[in-house]
Amino acid sequence: MTQTTTAGKCVGVLALQGDFREHREMLQALGHEVVEVRKVEQLTRLDALIIPGGESTTIARLILSNGFREPLRDFCAFGKPVWGTCAGAILLAKEVDQLDRPGIETMDIAVHRNAFGRQVDSFEAEIEVAGLPGDTPFRAVFIRAPLFERVFGKAEAIARLDDGTIVAARQGSLLATSFHPEVTGDTRIHAWFLTLGSNGHGEGTADPVLVSSAGPDSSSAAGGETSAG
Ligand code: GLN
Repeated sequence: MTQTTTAGKCVGVLALQGDFREHREMLQALGHEVVEVRKVEQLTRLDALIIPGGESTTIARLILSNGFREPLRDFCAFGKPVWGTCAGAILLAKEVDQLDRPGIETMDIAVHRNAFGRQVDSFEAEIEVAGLPGDTPFRAVFIRAPLFERVFGKAEAIARLDDGTIVAARQGSLLATSFHPEVTGDTRIHAWFLTLGSNGHGEGTADPVLVSSAGPDSSSAAGGETSAG
């Protein structure tokens, strides 16, 4: 069975804190059902899950206090697409500096929080994302972004800034971006992300050849205001 990019998936957005609304609006614009996940039981019916941007220390605290850590690790291991944006990427990373409690710790990436410094708290850059259909660069929005210091093990760097800084990584069905596609009008990464599943064969086993070639819908959707950060 192959994954497809067609509308009608049930996509969860972890809604403990952060900019889950922006993700929800973009997914709904693509025609998907969206569940704002606040209880562990809600994970069971999802086809995919997004961990949004926000404050990683706060989300990590709420993950622990709401009993989400092991269920989220299990969900990641199951092979359904899981994507962390910014704080969400920090939570997926196995190695993080300056996080005072464990996150989900499932991706082979090492990140450094708030690494771009005060002078460049927020910035935008045109980047190429390996595997993303289409020739147009993606205009990435960075808001107090983490730096991906390195990828190791099963993870691969799939996007870099001009100076070589890694800003996106993939590990099978797991995706991490230090930027926020949900605050742009460009739905391509959301559509592509939903094709990354490996049908329950476990993280790191997704074979791009097996996913549908239907291609994402690149029409624009929600843009504008954001509560990311
Ligand atoms: N700086 C935040 C953190 O370390 C992440 C910012 C964001 O998600 N936009 O948690």
